[in-house]
Amino acid sequence: ASGAMQDWTMRVTHVIDHAAREAGSREIVTRWADGNETRTDWSGIRRDALKLAQALEALGVKPGDRVASLAMNHARHLVSWFGVAGMGGVLHTVNPRLFEDQLEYIVNHAEDRVLLYDAAFQPIVDQMRDRWATVEHFICYDFAAHAPAFEDWIGEQDGDYEWVRGAETDPCMICYTSGTTGHPKGVQYEHRSTMLHALAGLQPAAFNFSASSVMLPVVPMFHAASWGLPYAGAMAGIKFVFSAVNDPAVLCDLMDREGVTDSAGVPTVWLATFQHCDAAGKDLPKLKAATIGGSAAPKFMIERLMRNGTRVQHAWGMTETSPIGTVGGPTANWDELSFEEKVAKTMMQGRPTFGVELRTVDLDDRTKELPRDGETAGALQIRGPWVIKRYFKAEENAVDADGWFDTGDVGILHPDGTLQLTDRTKDVIKSGGEWISSVELENEAVGHPAVAEAACIGMHHPKWDERPVLFVVRKNGAECSGEEIVEFLSGRVAKWWLPDAVEFIDEIPHTATGKISKKDLRERFSDYRLP
Ligand code: ADP
Repeated sequence: ASGAMQDWTMRVTHVIDHAAREAGSREIVTRWADGNETRTDWSGIRRDALKLAQALEALGVKPGDRVASLAMNHARHLVSWFGVAGMGGVLHTVNPRLFEDQLEYIVNHAEDRVLLYDAAFQPIVDQMRDRWATVEHFICYDFAAHAPAFEDWIGEQDGDYEWVRGAETDPCMICYTSGTTGHPKGVQYEHRSTMLHALAGLQPAAFNFSASSVMLPVVPMFHAASWGLPYAGAMAGIKFVFSAVNDPAVLCDLMDREGVTDSAGVPTVWLATFQHCDAAGKDLPKLKAATIGGSAAPKFMIERLMRNGTRVQHAWGMTETSPIGTVGGPTANWDELSFEEKVAKTMMQGRPTFGVELRTVDLDDRTKELPRDGETAGALQIRGPWVIKRYFKAEENAVDADGWFDTGDVGILHPDGTLQLTDRTKDVIKSGGEWISSVELENEAVGHPAVAEAACIGMHHPKWDERPVLFVVRKNGAECSGEEIVEFLSGRVAKWWLPDAVEFIDEIPHTATGKISKKDLRERFSDYRLP
């Protein structure tokens, strides 16, 4: 070290200290499950986080120990993010939508010692209690008959506490992937990686936060660290509006009353919001920016938000990437593009935020790097300071010798850096030696007015190897035939991509994170024969 500049360990405690110091009175609003609304601010969050850190120490929790949360989005959950990290602990945000076996596995695997939970999830706690071997203490965020209430419990502390100091490479959070195959895998986020990720999220090319931003994150805090929004938001001192329920009527009402300028969520959330707006004859006039990620944002959604004057930040990432990989925003010469061109650009997944690198490699030969020509699709790989190196408790690294992590996604890189995701490696359809993007077929199909949801999978074909079959859920009361859908798709996709069959079903299976589960769909139609 030259000694020229000051030491400053990258611990996330700096983030909450900064928010409390510089934006102490900026509000944090919560709409609770019971309809109550409460308000605190960044200094209140810090005050409670200090008390939580003390309360955890009083229980004997040590730095490095895991503390779990089973909770929706609210101020007490936010307090836990900073309080657990502040005493050197690792917050494990458990996804309450996981199946019982997965819930059992991840809590035991993480060896969580304390569980902080919402009263709404009492049934899960009752069900799982005996199967969770390591959990010694249960604290309820609201009120419960058999557990201390969070506010009372931390209320016993005086808050006279100093954050634990440690290495910036210490973990502060752990999230499990929902695991489409095998057991879920734990991804630990470090103080340093979290800080760098949040700084990247803050920039105009990503979330574009300023002190005037008012953010309602619909993406749950248990899903990939809520895309890092709580940290980036604290850095910018924004106002947060949390809702512990995901009812679109509640969300729209909150957006209106609290002057929400920014929101973030998966496409299905936006779909539900639009449906509510249409039924109630309302709009979202105050919404300046919407981040959409987790699955591809369909065209009509982007068009609708853009017509509303909302900047659409279509983002790609995964639990393993903290999760931000790419974010869409204005590109070079944006103002010269037509509306249609802007929509087309926004349908792609944006560009890498500073810090991460992307490359595509040949699907059959992963050592062969592909050109960034806007045409060639390949296996997408990523590396950077907030990208996974090794899963929790794994024996081997999850990356190759050069640090590249294989995402399992298939994409095209464009000369201007834009990523266009075309499929997942497991779902891409190989027909006559050429690749068909199942995702693109689905995206086009949901543009048909009678289609509520669509999923495309490759079915064995004696001549072509595989051919696409499109499974469609019709909108309530809507009529349309398979021929009409194929007709609708022709001209929108290459002729040889057109599905060999369209099958109408009542429901498409989903994973715990709300994504289409092609694995379940394949199982359900394992005896399917192409017509
Ligand atoms: P899970 O591991 O359960 O799928 P993740 O949140 O980690 O949960 O999911 C990451 C995956 O979601 C990515 O690998 C990608 O396939 C998909 N994904 C994320 N964002 C987008 C997007 N904007 N467009 C299309 N797919 C996306």
